[in-house]
Amino acid sequence: MAQNIPTEQWAQVVEQTGKPVVYKKIPVQKPGPDEVLINIKFSGVCHTDLHAVNGDWPLATKLPLVGGHEGAGVVVARGDLVKDIEIGDHAGVKWINGTCLACDFCQRSDEPLCAKALLSGYTVDGTFQQYCIAKAAHVARIPKECDLEAIAPVLCAGITVYKGLKESGARPGETVAIVGAGGGLGSLACQYAKAMGLRVIAIDGGNEKKEMTAKLGAESYVDFMSSKNVVSDVKAATPDGLGPHAVILVAVNEKPFQQAAEYVRPRGTVVAIGLPAGAYLRAPVFESVIKMITIKGSYVGNRADSAEAIEFFRRGLIKAPYKSIGMSELQKVYDLMHEGKIAGRYVVDTSK
Ligand code: NAD
Ligand code: ZN
Ligand code: ZN
Repeated sequence: MAQNIPTEQWAQVVEQTGKPVVYKKIPVQKPGPDEVLINIKFSGVCHTDLHAVNGDWPLATKLPLVGGHEGAGVVVARGDLVKDIEIGDHAGVKWINGTCLACDFCQRSDEPLCAKALLSGYTVDGTFQQYCIAKAAHVARIPKECDLEAIAPVLCAGITVYKGLKESGARPGETVAIVGAGGGLGSLACQYAKAMGLRVIAIDGGNEKKEMTAKLGAESYVDFMSSKNVVSDVKAATPDGLGPHAVILVAVNEKPFQQAAEYVRPRGTVVAIGLPAGAYLRAPVFESVIKMITIKGSYVGNRADSAEAIEFFRRGLIKAPYKSIGMSELQKVYDLMHEGKIAGRYVVDTSK
């Protein structure tokens, strides 16, 4: 280990689900043979972190838990088996912290489906601490020219929506509805969709998100809070009135998951990404069949998707808004997120 690594560090710890996070000092861990230790400089705050704090998913978290999975920083130590990443390199800790690399899914580069996947900030400690461990094979390589604060949200939100847009099969020039467009994933989805040559209908609530999504390249906005009929408004927002070719669901409520099948274009694809607790996807069989629609899930991305999403950012194509705050104030971010009041993403600075 390098000499300047402290034995203790600041972290935000979930000691009990459903309770506020606790800002305290905890020990710095040592990386195992196939792991690296990353000095996390910045970490984005994803709604998944709030699901972990609330314990509202049908998947248990580790406890006590350090949340966070959009961590960007510098490699400060590595295990003996690690050869392809150097001390001093910039790297990112993603949701997929490690996988077995040997099962059927890992062999087919569907690593998120690995039954042995370690999940950062959920089943293993994540990035709301100053020093975080991850499997070297899975840490994202971040080019030195990329700003570590601005790139943090790409490490989950960016990768996930980029993958979801690819899964939708939408082609350049086609229209995609982004549901929850004013949130963290949604704001990045607007940018990736635009960079991929797609036309965007943004769906979210309130004027702040309307203005933000317009700046990010959305051609139209449907306000789910004031619209009298979301289904007809979304259809009307497409150039020919037939509905969007794809729907990217990144909202945190169940209702839009029921509506999407109604406004998606015949032959279109609905991609579910958001994970509202206890929600169901429902669609009428008759219309789904005669419209020949596809409804599918999309879950983060593999290592190649991650590298591609980062390359879009490096090229200057992804400039999503974020707000900076000290890590000590993480609970404030969760409170705002719970109320749906965050336009874009919050990024915490682990030194404050
Ligand atoms: P966020 O809180 O930043 O954004 C959610 C947005 O949804 C908000 O802007 C909110 O106003 C909007 N919304 C709520 N109800 C709506 C409705 N009826 N219609 C339209 N918009 C509505 O959350 P986030 O960090 O972007 O995460 C979104 C969801 O995605 C979470 O459930 C998270 O756990 C999940 N997620 C999934 C994956 C995956 O791999 N599938 C990866 C990351 C996050
Ligand atoms: Zn996330
Ligand atoms: Zn595996």
